Order: sequence, then structure tokens, then C-alpha cells
Amino acid sequence: MKIDLPPLPYSYTALEPEISKTTLEIHHDKHHAKYVNVANQMIEGTEMEGDDSEALLMKAHKAGNQGLFNNAAQSWNHAFYWDCMKPSGGGEPTGDLADQIKKDFGSFDEFKKQFDTAGNTAFGSGWAWLSWDGSKLVVDKTIGAGNPMTDGKKPILTMDVWEHAYYVDYKNMRATYVTTFLDKLVNWDFVSANFAAAK
Ligand code: MN
Repeated sequence: MKIDLPPLPYSYTALEPEISKTTLEIHHDKHHAKYVNVANQMIEGTEMEGDDSEALLMKAHKAGNQGLFNNAAQSWNHAFYWDCMKPSGGGEPTGDLADQIKKDFGSFDEFKKQFDTAGNTAFGSGWAWLSWDGSKLVVDKTIGAGNPMTDGKKPILTMDVWEHAYYVDYKNMRATYVTTFLDKLVNWDFVSANFAAAK
């Protein structure tokens, strides 16, 4: 039993023009696939065979196995990231999630500002996150393969800010990619469902 590479939840052209077919092909079929393949190679023949990527990343973190953590966490992070986007996404959430964002950040605009800053200030390669910490929503940035689960939080939204996520389409303009992600790509239905499950 191996961890698998889930197919994209939409076609390779579905996020155009914000994210190109070329980016999705390279990002999913090459980068994401490699993390999954390397993680599977690392657990082959060990007692971790059969674990899913979440169990693997937590075990690797606890064991201080950085190599396995990087590949297992990148496998989980990417599968989650694909679901965090949809064609014609963006805008604002509604219902319980909208109420909680207003409660914990003061306003949706303030949440956007913090998430935008997290995405733009993750130095080098990393991720921006919205997570439930057990009592409130929090924005974090992580470096490399980092995931807020290792701090006991439940991620409900993520944005990949490794250069491979945006360089083909935005070159060095990470800030434009981040703004576009929030305004045109976020799948708030998925994020709301994650929030309902986390709370
Ligand atoms: Mn990536």
C-alpha cells in the first residue's frame, strides 16, 4: 500500500488564465508526483507502509526524519492545495466561516491582508495557511514543506508560494500571484467544509 498522487480536481486548463496549463502540468505531474514517489520509496519495507501522507508527516516530524517529512508533507500539502482552488473562485466566504473570520480578524479585508503578508514574506520556498488552532482561526507561513499540523493546528486553506507554483505565469511577481489567488482562485466551499470539520 502506497500513498497516491490524486488527480487534479479540474482540468489542466481550468484555472487559465490565472494559472496556466503548463504550470499545472509541471507542478502536478512532475513536482507533486516526485514528492509522492520519493515518500513511497522511503517507506518501502518499513512499518510505515500503508500509512497515509498525514500519518507519515506526523510520524516523520516526531522522529526528526527531515527527509521523509519533506516528501510526506509536500505530498499532503499539494493534494490539499489543488482542492483549495477552483475556476472562478475567490471572492468572500459566507456563513459560519465568514462569521468566524470577522470574529478572529476583525474583517475579511484584515484576514486578506494577513494572508497576503504571510504569502509574500515566507522567505524562499514555503506556504501560507489559514488554520483552526482549537479556539480560533490563525494565519501562518511555513518554510519548505512545513505544515501547521505539527503545531497541533488544523489547516483549512493553503497557498503554495514555492517559485514552481507561479514562476511560469508571474515570473518574479509573487505579490501578483498572491493577490490573484485570493481574488480569483480560492475555493471557499472547500475551505468552509474544512472549517466545519475542524471546529
Ligand atoms: Mn508546489
